[in-house]
Amino acid sequence: MSTGLRKAQARLAEMRARGEKPERIDPLERAKRNPTSLRHAINAKCWDCIGGDADPSPRWCIGNCEIPACPLWNVRPYQTYRGRPVPVHLRSGDTEKTEPNA
Ligand code: SF4
Repeated sequence: MSTGLRKAQARLAEMRARGEKPERIDPLERAKRNPTSLRHAINAKCWDCIGGDADPSPRWCIGNCEIPACPLWNVRPYQTYRGRPVPVHLRSGDTEKTEPNA
């Protein structure tokens, strides 16, 4: 496990111990707060490209991005989502059930 991840987990545990809830910020805001971070810039670009959280499961969509010609494809975030089953709400035909004709 990386040192950065361990530090983040320790900070999170401290916050929870104090009864605080961690602030949820999207990748665009995170990039604004860290303007020199390439990682945050890439994450923000993919987040923006996929439409942010306007549609369901943006992380799955980025991880399963089907545009390998994009210069960011090999370094895009959420690649651990690649190959996972399509979320139910993204499957066509699963969102609406039609009533059988009487
Ligand atoms: S890797 Fe995919 S999601 Fe990211 S910017 Fe390129 S096309 Fe968009």
